[in-house]
Amino acid sequence: MSEISRRNFLKGAAVAGAAVAGSAALAGCSSGGSAASGDWMPKSWDYETDVVVVGYGGAGMWSSLVAADEGGSEVVILEKAPVEGGGNSRINNGEWTVIKDEKLFRDYCVAFGHGLIEEDMIDAYIGEATKHTDYADKYGMTYEVAEKALAGTIPEYWFLDDGKYAGCIGVSNVEGFGMTTFHELEAKRAELGLPIELKFACTEEHLIQNPDTKEIAGVRFLEDGAEKTIKARKGVVLCTGGFEFNEELKNTYLSIYPFKFEGWQYNTGDGIRMVEEVGAKLWHMNMVISTTAMWTRDPDYDFAIFASPQSDAFFTVNRLGKRYQNEAKTGGTAHNGWHTLMSFSDKIDDYDRIPSWQIFDQKGIDGGPMGTQQGGWFECGNYTTDLPDELRAWDGWSDDNQVEIERGWVLKGDTLEELGQKIKDFDHWMDIDTLKETFAEYQAFCDAGKDARFDRELTAEENKLSESGPYYAISIYPGSCSTLGGPKKNVNAEVLDPAGNVIPRLYAAGSFGNFQAHSYGITGGNNSENMVWGRIAGRHCAGLEPWDKK
Ligand SMILES: Cc1cc2nc3c(=O)[nH]c(=O)nc-3n(C[C@H](O)[C@H](O)[C@H](O)COP(=O)(O)OP(=O)(O)OC[C@H]3O[C@@H](n4cnc5c(N)ncnc54)[C@H](O)[C@@H]3O)c2cc1C
Repeated sequence: MSEISRRNFLKGAAVAGAAVAGSAALAGCSSGGSAASGDWMPKSWDYETDVVVVGYGGAGMWSSLVAADEGGSEVVILEKAPVEGGGNSRINNGEWTVIKDEKLFRDYCVAFGHGLIEEDMIDAYIGEATKHTDYADKYGMTYEVAEKALAGTIPEYWFLDDGKYAGCIGVSNVEGFGMTTFHELEAKRAELGLPIELKFACTEEHLIQNPDTKEIAGVRFLEDGAEKTIKARKGVVLCTGGFEFNEELKNTYLSIYPFKFEGWQYNTGDGIRMVEEVGAKLWHMNMVISTTAMWTRDPDYDFAIFASPQSDAFFTVNRLGKRYQNEAKTGGTAHNGWHTLMSFSDKIDDYDRIPSWQIFDQKGIDGGPMGTQQGGWFECGNYTTDLPDELRAWDGWSDDNQVEIERGWVLKGDTLEELGQKIKDFDHWMDIDTLKETFAEYQAFCDAGKDARFDRELTAEENKLSESGPYYAISIYPGSCSTLGGPKKNVNAEVLDPAGNVIPRLYAAGSFGNFQAHSYGITGGNNSENMVWGRIAGRHCAGLEPWDKK
């Protein structure tokens, strides 16, 4: 499939039909319920089942598995992607948290969350997370428990309180990353013959709520563009992931903007609207797991990419052309690197480090591919070969960086003046004279062997840029993995209204309302969040009496 047609395909979304992994839903059922009826209740249901799960990522996987396997319930999963699904959970690094010292971990959550994480939620989380390895073994997952994450020492803020939290968790190390895990769980579901049905190309969902009891009775949605209803006899578990590809939600709720992500393009925060319609309270809406990344600035490829110049001869400037940090030690923890871009300047009434620009020379190009590639050791994200054509957003970075230069993802100027003008064409705040002064100062620091501003170790051989060009630049934004805000829930993963009342038969799990607050502190925490709250939601919902039997 060509790039153009693939992208149109992705944007159109409503294609392909349902795939059946088990046999659960009954098509063409009449309502037949004895519960309250009225205008809110569909006259007939197109489908019915016990538990409806919306979103087929990791949280949807875990809640459906447990609802069916432990709860003996029929499950239907509604997934927005046209085929296969999997969400960010399918294309991530596969790391999940292994709690090693419960007491220390509990204290750590209180410490890094600055008291913002509710303690009953911490206890519920620990109670379930300590079963992770048992479940992983039960469902045939490949993993090893490591003392360090791919990105370094764990947990994220281990150094708080004199480093006493080091060692309170381990993290799973999974060969083949989240792709391995996702496919293993799919295979186990098939092997167990669980009554879980998957429906793809499902969009525009609205929860069907009894206005008197506030109970959720089912879901109205489009399937391949056709209006459908599904009765959820026991309840609905929302697992729609983050809002990484919804500019309005990001600009409204995240602490800084623009924020750019690299993952699953169907994650547009649809669940937020769904729960707002039924009166839920939102929480932790500013939470993200994210470092910094290159944004393509290309509307046809509107996502972030891990990319960097392939030499040590580079420096980073803010929007105005000034350096602001030791580029070799950018600070922040591995999964909170975006904090380094939190700098608001009243002089421009905006964030003056978004975008930042990495400036480099031919050495950064000649050193090898600047970005993540298919076949590379870090192959994960929206370009992986594991994804079918319909879901793959691009094919990974080119070997010689030329495709990305031609597309304008990497800016090139024969002179610094020309490069500065190209940056300015994108962001009018760039001051080309300031950029030239910064360049001259940086070059002098290299000659002197000392960075007098930011204490970066510099040498002329390693770090100095050519005096004659050409020069290159990439734009750096806050961004990479996932947003984590969503509806507030309780220890049963039941969604709450603003007064703290349960909205009966409605659950949330995964990155759609992470329990962590203040900052992302639990390394491997999102996959763990999926496992914890997915299982809790699936188990609790499956344990309910069907509303139509009351
Ligand atoms: C490259 C990368 C690496 C990462 N590595 C790790 C890691 O190692 N460890 C870790 O803990 N976290 C990691 N993360 C973050 C982690 O992957 C996510 O936070 C987590 O997978 C979210 O799981 P989820 O089930 O909530 O959402 P997702 O897995 O994203 O699934 C959400 C699903 O909902 C579907 N959906 C959305 N809207 C609708 C709708 N209206 N109707 C039906 N379906 C809908 C989506 O299509 C998607 O399939 C990484 C993220 C990325 C991008």
